[in-house]
Amino acid sequence: MSDYLNMSYEELQEEYKKLQIEYENIKKLNLNLDMSRGKPCKEQLDLSMGLFDNAKDPSSYISEDGFDCRNYGYLSGIPEAKRLFSQLLGVKESEVIIGGNSSLNLMYDTVARAMFFGVYGSEKPWMKYEKIKFLCPSPGYDRHFAITEAFGVEMIPVEMKEDGPDMDTIEKLVAEDETIKGIWCTPQYSNPDGITYSDEVVDRFARMKTKASDFRIFWDNAYCVHHLYDDDRANVKNILTACKEAGNEHRVFIFFSTSKITHPGAGISVLASSEKNIEFTLNQISKQTICSDKLNQLRHVNFLKSVEGINELMKKHAAIIRPKFEAVDKILHEKLDGKNIARWTNPKGGYFISFFTLDGCARRVEELAKGAGLTLTKAGATYPYGNNPRDNNLRIAPTLPPIEELKKAMEILAVCVKVASIEKLLGKAS
Ligand code: PMP
Repeated sequence: MSDYLNMSYEELQEEYKKLQIEYENIKKLNLNLDMSRGKPCKEQLDLSMGLFDNAKDPSSYISEDGFDCRNYGYLSGIPEAKRLFSQLLGVKESEVIIGGNSSLNLMYDTVARAMFFGVYGSEKPWMKYEKIKFLCPSPGYDRHFAITEAFGVEMIPVEMKEDGPDMDTIEKLVAEDETIKGIWCTPQYSNPDGITYSDEVVDRFARMKTKASDFRIFWDNAYCVHHLYDDDRANVKNILTACKEAGNEHRVFIFFSTSKITHPGAGISVLASSEKNIEFTLNQISKQTICSDKLNQLRHVNFLKSVEGINELMKKHAAIIRPKFEAVDKILHEKLDGKNIARWTNPKGGYFISFFTLDGCARRVEELAKGAGLTLTKAGATYPYGNNPRDNNLRIAPTLPPIEELKKAMEILAVCVKVASIEKLLGKAS
């Protein structure tokens, strides 16, 4: 259990030799383990096969008000879907739009529309500025950053703290720069840290003074029902209500989807915001589509039934994935405790564990892992432009692999972390 930071050069050399043998032995196993993306496993996907019961029954295509969902109509979603998801998100039915199969798509389109047309209350389209900027709490979700990068939006990283992003920095930046138009947030069980924003953070977001009158918070509540422990659930304060109370009701776009509730890529998404924002957005969307897939909306409402129904399903997900999160934590403790070379998060929900190496080691760990047959999410991906100046963060996605594979993967990761850390320490010592 020796602390690597207190070892002599010779002791480190000795340890390095042993680890190299261990690493070479792993390589000989010719493993092919992929932990790069946060996908549900087959057992989780099987939980939602009830979606396809009664496919030909009229209840699967006639909505509660008698509308035939096989036909065009209901641009903002069918009433029962709007009711269910507005209840889940704690907003009014008039404050939601039910979208297509991907909330990421909604986010992309929301940025694209803002660039082309501005948002409700904008003086001009965002693309008419020489440059606009987004704040990016980091580590964060790589696909958020990919959207703003695709539109040439300058991304400014903001440090994550225990209870959300660094609000002192955010408040200062948005107060003085009119070209900062937005911020990416995953407020509950964040990707990848598993952090949940405190009430104070939510209130500060709602109240802060922004130089840009058309500043928007992109509040991606992807993991709002994804608790691992039923008796230890996070609960984020309602941002739309907080914004209304602060007199900034148009400030937030809330995103949500059933991707990790039922079937990713085949679920439904939700945009929630002030009535004015929703009206403004619907007018724009009406030029883009006649309506979303209402059969899927009805299928989801029939299957999920109620907020309680969603929570019950999520408990079944948790029963499958909780042992995986716990196995990761246990093995990492067994292999790395006392060495002083790594720390990792122990989230109470969501899909990821965030792993921190010594500065300058994450890319090397990724490379070593790849060489040993373990694919990890690219080091740096959790930062804007894929660039983590400290090169110290890796994202662990424990849900997809079978538990035995996951354990193997964590053992390999631990060896790679030790090798990379000693390489760095030896480099420093020489
Ligand atoms: N937001 C976050 C924070 C995510 O982690 C993911 C999936 N990894 C998504 C959105 C993707 O959602 P969707 O499938 O609805 O596009």
